Amino acid sequence: MANKGRLIIISGPSGAGKGTICYELIKRMPELIVSRSVTTRPPRTNEQKNRSYLFVSQAEFLSMVQNNELLEYDHHFEHFYGTPRKFVEDMLKFGKDVILEIDVKGALQVKQNFPDSMLFFVEAPSEQALYDRLKKRGTETEEKIQIRMARSRLELAQKNKYDYCILNDSLERAVGEIMDILKK
Ligand code: 5GP
Repeated sequence: MANKGRLIIISGPSGAGKGTICYELIKRMPELIVSRSVTTRPPRTNEQKNRSYLFVSQAEFLSMVQNNELLEYDHHFEHFYGTPRKFVEDMLKFGKDVILEIDVKGALQVKQNFPDSMLFFVEAPSEQALYDRLKKRGTETEEKIQIRMARSRLELAQKNKYDYCILNDSLERAVGEIMDILKK
């Protein structure tokens, strides 16, 4: 079965600005479809239930894994995160380009199954900038920020496996760079 749409994967450290970049991308390219991940993480106070994620219990998540309903999944920051398979495959069949905002491990799993997918790694200008953004976001305790910082170093070490590295030194510039690549 030939897929008509493209799979666009955006990864990068927590706090590097992936979410904002995705938001700006779909504002400027409304033809793009964003996949909504499923997670066992509880919603943050500013997160509308089942808008940014489909929030499920661990039992529900594991049942989705067993039923092969996830394209990929991973366990990090004490919770499960995964990409619902059917939605993504249906959209690709309809010729839609689909964005997945997922971590490095998930991205590399998807690349194995969909070798044509386009992998973008979004990087913050510095470790300090990353820390400042996480702190400013105010959604994590200092201990959790440190866990995210440690994970970001591991993710950064794998950026050479990505097709494109995007430095998020300016939102405008970073979004423009991704759009130029997508429109080529
Ligand atoms: P957060 O808890 O900050 O929303 O997300 C934590 C990390 O989980 C981020 O790096 C995000 O990209 C990743 N993530 C979100 N959804 C998925 C998913 O469906 N699969 C995988 N593998 N990672 C995800």
